[in-house]
Amino acid sequence: MLDLTYDTPKPKVISGAKDDWELVIGMEVHAQVTSNAKLFSAASTKFGAEPNSNVSFVDAAMPGMLPTINEYCVEQAVRTGLGLKAEINLMSAFDRKNYFYPDLPQGYQISQLYHPIVGEGEVLVEMGDGTARLVRIERIHLEQDAGKSIHDMDPNMSFVDLNRTGVALMEIVSRPDIRGPEEAAAYLGKLRQIMRYLGTCNGDMQSGAMRADVNVSVCRPGDYEKYQATQDFGHLGTRCEIKNMNSMRFIQQAIDHEARRQIAIIEAGGEIEQETRLYDPDKGETRSMRSKEEAHDYRYFPDPDLLPLEIEQAWVNEIAATLPELPDAKKARFIADFGLSDYDASVLTADLDSAGYFEVVAKGRDGKMAANWVINELFGRLKKEDHDITDSPVTPAQLGGIIDLIASDAISGKIAKDLFEIVYTEGGDPAVIVEERGMKQVTDTGAIEAAVDEIIAANPEQVAKAKENPKLAGWFVGQVMKSTGGKANPKTVNQLVSKKLAE
Ligand code: ADP
Ligand code: MG
Repeated sequence: MLDLTYDTPKPKVISGAKDDWELVIGMEVHAQVTSNAKLFSAASTKFGAEPNSNVSFVDAAMPGMLPTINEYCVEQAVRTGLGLKAEINLMSAFDRKNYFYPDLPQGYQISQLYHPIVGEGEVLVEMGDGTARLVRIERIHLEQDAGKSIHDMDPNMSFVDLNRTGVALMEIVSRPDIRGPEEAAAYLGKLRQIMRYLGTCNGDMQSGAMRADVNVSVCRPGDYEKYQATQDFGHLGTRCEIKNMNSMRFIQQAIDHEARRQIAIIEAGGEIEQETRLYDPDKGETRSMRSKEEAHDYRYFPDPDLLPLEIEQAWVNEIAATLPELPDAKKARFIADFGLSDYDASVLTADLDSAGYFEVVAKGRDGKMAANWVINELFGRLKKEDHDITDSPVTPAQLGGIIDLIASDAISGKIAKDLFEIVYTEGGDPAVIVEERGMKQVTDTGAIEAAVDEIIAANPEQVAKAKENPKLAGWFVGQVMKSTGGKANPKTVNQLVSKKLAE
């Protein structure tokens, strides 16, 4: 269990209703396993391929074809489970979930209903304001994705693309521990971050590699605590499930809308019917898709073509040993080792590339200064041009070189920004650039003193004012910096200006 030093965020209360209502949300996230081949066939999973070009006889459900489990996909599911601090089930099994759909040639989806490969885990969801909630994971099971029906290519016909048929999905089911739209988005963001660290899912929501079914209900204040104490769902309201959401923004809008819809019904004396709904982003509302089907509607039964999946603890241990340092641990280490703020540590550990870059810059240097330069200067500059840290024109060694020049008082902070711009646009060794272009800071007190004297002599009125009001000394510092082309050591300038004005 994590040592929670955070405050728990207050549940979201919906305003505008007659009574107080709280939100309860549980999510089923479908995460496409990062794998070259499908879950039970060797066909490619490449996104954006020519329609129906990545379809094996198994995927097309040709008679007599048999599924063969892809060990790599199983490993990725185990890795994900370990990353979510979850129980790994050494024995799991595949079931057939039977239904008809044109993009499902088998007439059933192979999934894991009764014995999922991963059991209970947890995700720490931080809200960025010092509050965090621990969201429990109920299970992760492996299943096949379906194909895609295309209805907008021809006015009279629909088409079916089976490229996605049989691609491995991990369905990550949370407990109903999420209490508001922002938390729902933060939960998804954290799951995605962890899976990207692990390399088990690319988390790309636009391409559908990560999508979520969002279960929403509302309850009276106090009822959720009763549910927590007893785990009895009877204390919670009836939920509706919003299907297949693949945008963080729409998920939040849909939750908000759905909660308001439910409250209006209950306050008007009606009852919520458990159902599956779709969100229409154009209208900003959810609409009924079908009444909720139950597991027995699908006539689940163990897939007779597949033996139960048995894995060994030794293999799980081997996978565990190759797990990278995960976001929570890395963030805690950045705070402890580099003295970073919670916020800076979060920004720098958002993804592995940023964290890796920062660590090289910070090694043997002042951590806070390194964080400042990476976040404010580098990330700011990269963002301007829509660049990614992986194609940064400034290498960690170059940025470290700039910081070293500041730390050794060779250049001022102001000149350092000019230097950064030169390195960013032209490249080169920062120390050499400073030398060649005469950017070195003037630390020679004599030269600075002469400049201070000159400004003081030329501005007797300002001097008189500054003697009355010491705050005006800053104006002299600015003038001296200007007259030295920004190269005077600001500390020395400050000291000398104060000293001379006091004379
Ligand atoms: P199914 O697979 O039929 O959709 P599950 O029992 O597996 O049903 O639950 C699916 C999701 O619904 C889980 O994420 C769970 O946390 C969530 N859930 C269950 N009850 C509620 C509720 N009252 N309000 C919100 N979410 C809920
Ligand atoms: Mg469901």
